Amino acid sequence: MTVAGSPDLPGATATTEIPEYVQPPDRSSLPLVFTAPRRGKPPTHWADLDPASRRTAVEQAGHRAYRARQLSAHYFEGLRSDPETWTDLPAGVRSELASAFLPPLLTSVRELTCDDGDTVKTLWRLHDGALVESVLMRYPDRVTMCVSSQAGCGMACPFCATGQGGLQRNMSTAEIVEQVVDGARKLAHGRLGDAQGEAPRVSNVVFMGMGEPLANYKSVVGALRQLTTPKPDGLGMSARGITVSTVGLVPRINQLAEEGLPVTLALSLHAPDDELRDELVPVNTRWNVDEVVDAAWEYARTTKRRVSIEYILIRDVNDQPQRAEQLAKVLKRRGSWGWVHVNLIPLNPTPGSRWTASRRRDEDEFVRRLQARGVPVTVRDTRGREIDGACGQLAAGSADVDASVTAPPVRARV
Ligand code: SF4
Repeated sequence: MTVAGSPDLPGATATTEIPEYVQPPDRSSLPLVFTAPRRGKPPTHWADLDPASRRTAVEQAGHRAYRARQLSAHYFEGLRSDPETWTDLPAGVRSELASAFLPPLLTSVRELTCDDGDTVKTLWRLHDGALVESVLMRYPDRVTMCVSSQAGCGMACPFCATGQGGLQRNMSTAEIVEQVVDGARKLAHGRLGDAQGEAPRVSNVVFMGMGEPLANYKSVVGALRQLTTPKPDGLGMSARGITVSTVGLVPRINQLAEEGLPVTLALSLHAPDDELRDELVPVNTRWNVDEVVDAAWEYARTTKRRVSIEYILIRDVNDQPQRAEQLAKVLKRRGSWGWVHVNLIPLNPTPGSRWTASRRRDEDEFVRRLQARGVPVTVRDTRGREIDGACGQLAAGSADVDASVTAPPVRARV
């Protein structure tokens, strides 16, 4: 995998034209992968089932149907997966239900803490040895859980550690939900910040860990339903606290808009013009800037949820004032009814990358230009940077954990 970027783009000049992107000689040739390789499926877990199928499964296992609700109350509401704590159930029933419906899916391999204990990043090994990661972040007003949706990623973004490793497999619904349940347990046990008073809850979930969530659509929508189903049959979160990030799989964005799940959509745009976006976000060669921004606009119109445009600022590559102007133009062309918000993200360079974060003055100018055009904009807090906070970096830096754990990526050109 080649990570390429030219620090010598003519974008620093004061022309009004979008500067031509200089194609680096060692351009990445990683293919896009939309279909995950078939690997052994993880065992079915309670969090893979809906309430009706839980009752059926419990009955088929020889137990009374009402045990399903008891088990859901322990798992989703009490966050208890240790059958010893299920004292309202007969001892024999407890162990049978636990072994049938709560198989261990995630094994913690490494845990790193920073930001004075307010950020915890966990590297997980899945049942087949694949590695994924999740990050729990406590802020003064909320707790955000960042989850992975695929082991690896097939979208080949050249600035991203996960993209450089290719796609290993899709994660199951329960593997995604278990990351959130683990975060909720950490909070309940006072693992973040001070434990005085009532333990905080996971208020926000962002699908911004490893993987392209909309390339694993079925499992991700299944997880969204488990997160938002009221307790005790689900985690009872508000859809408004959940953000699904995508590089722009247009048919799936359209499908998500019709699911009746008003989650926030975050579109990783990273460039306002096709020439540069083809390079930074290779899926742009399938659905271009106009098409993905149209889909995002339509999503906002249908769900009444403001879309977030994610834009990683890369020094001298996409952070020129002219690109800020063009970004404003692209967004304002769809109207000014508050449908969109731009989230600028200082690049967290991957090891060995020749790309780096924008200079502060360029970042400030980018913000100023967007604001001057009436585009709401914020610069993202770069939590977890000291523990490899960019997606895929913990797993990418953990090849030494167990050389056998990561299967070679299998890729197919589509
Ligand atoms: S930036 Fe996101 S979509 Fe792109 S390769 Fe990385 S994980 Fe995949």
